[in-house]
Amino acid sequence: MKKYDDIIIGFGKGGKTLAGYLAKKGEKVAVIEKSNKMYGGTCINVGCIPSKSLVKNASKTAQMGDISFDEKSKLYKKAIEEKRNLTEMLRGKNYDKLNNLDNVDVINAKASFEDKNIVKITYKDSEELLHADKIYINTGSTSVIPKIEGIENNPYVYFSDTLMELDTLPNRLIIIGGGYIGLEFASMYSNFGSNVTVIQDGDKFIPREDEDIADEVKSLLENQGMEIKLGAKIKKFTKDGIVSYSHKGKEFNDKADAILVATGRKANTGDLNLEAAGVEVDKRGGIVVDNNLRTSNNNIWAMGDVNGGLQFTYVSLDDYRIIVSGLENKNKYNLSKRENVPYSVFMNTPLSRVGLNEREALEQGYDIKVLKLPVGAIPKAQVLKKPYGILKAIIDNKTNRILGTMLLCEESYEMINIVKLAMDLGADYTILKNQVFTHPTMSEALNDLFSL
Ligand SMILES: Cc1cc2nc3c(=O)[nH]c(=O)nc-3n(C[C@H](O)[C@H](O)[C@H](O)COP(=O)(O)OP(=O)(O)OC[C@H]3O[C@@H](n4cnc5c(N)ncnc54)[C@H](O)[C@@H]3O)c2cc1C
Repeated sequence: MKKYDDIIIGFGKGGKTLAGYLAKKGEKVAVIEKSNKMYGGTCINVGCIPSKSLVKNASKTAQMGDISFDEKSKLYKKAIEEKRNLTEMLRGKNYDKLNNLDNVDVINAKASFEDKNIVKITYKDSEELLHADKIYINTGSTSVIPKIEGIENNPYVYFSDTLMELDTLPNRLIIIGGGYIGLEFASMYSNFGSNVTVIQDGDKFIPREDEDIADEVKSLLENQGMEIKLGAKIKKFTKDGIVSYSHKGKEFNDKADAILVATGRKANTGDLNLEAAGVEVDKRGGIVVDNNLRTSNNNIWAMGDVNGGLQFTYVSLDDYRIIVSGLENKNKYNLSKRENVPYSVFMNTPLSRVGLNEREALEQGYDIKVLKLPVGAIPKAQVLKKPYGILKAIIDNKTNRILGTMLLCEESYEMINIVKLAMDLGADYTILKNQVFTHPTMSEALNDLFSL
């Protein structure tokens, strides 16, 4: 049996970074990835990078104004090709970066546990057992497949990864699920020229957000041209692309050219045979980890989406930092020390947030000041011809610290990182009021927001 110091299952963000670190320390590492189309993980191949490449090209298409659907379809096809080239290039770079390291074996096979320290790897026609002292699970997450009649083997049904492989622009796209991935795709395909309907079962639109922010996002998306149906019940999909559902007491049978199912993602543990290693999962299927990301088996760690935490690439990377801190026995950084994790939804008007919103701050008993600025008041937003949205900050009256900020505006995905830094430093909110920022930029709007 081949022996390694470390086995990393899954070639995701945290795993590949950890592999480089361990190899540099002179340890012998195996990185096992089941798909040769996934070197570098979800982010590079089927997640962040391809979707943002398409978001960028969709936005360019929308800016071309009144062009025919045929012309839009051609631009869409080109955008898919560009995305393919980009992911292929990044996949190759990721593979080479690890595979060129003397101490790392990248193995293209499916991994499962045979025992506490033994991993079985399954190739197309054969199997092999590998032994390691330390094992890291970095197998990511996968789309939830809801129980809907007609969903299986339906040529009209897509998930985020397969839709981004479709070369033909769907004229009518129906999206099941109004979560953040669903909305990003809704905005993107609407910009490409699809006629988009989002169907959601819950009555509340993006319920995690404050109502004023959610209402503003909804009206911006509707103004962009898409239809959002809340409180709908899906009945079935037919094999010729009909989506049957009820909404506000009426029955609908809408024909789609494509149906995107975006009803969430769940930890990818199905193949792993975790019982053999004594690794526990929680009710939602995520691997249970402690403050240092150790699983219920002391020699096994879980990092990234698979441990049931926030599903972002930068969280997977931060998991790597936590694991290294534990391995170095410094224990300087652990899960409880991670704070103020920002996020962005890359819609036509991007939404970015860090920290508490107004509702949460009140629920937690804070005495707060709420600052709000309409985006129309920002000179750069006028230059960009994107004067849409709203900025909102929540301040703790007792300490003058920022409890949270929501930025619904162009380039908010850059601005939010400035607020995060101010929050991490525990700064008085006036630091952003009085900060010298370049002009004209969206960031300088933070001067105005925090002056209110
Ligand atoms: C459409 C979409 C858009 C997104 N956009 C963003 C964004 O803009 N910003 C952001 O931060 N996040 C975004 N995310 C989320 C982000 O992609 C994930 O949170 C992140 O990639 C998870 O990384 P990970 O390290 O957990 O593992 P992953 O990158 O998911 O890697 C896991 C790997 O394990 C492999 N694997 C699974 N099981 C086995 C097995 N048994 N044996 C061997 N290999 C196995 C898989 O093939 C996969 O390559 C997006 C996700 C999607 C789907």
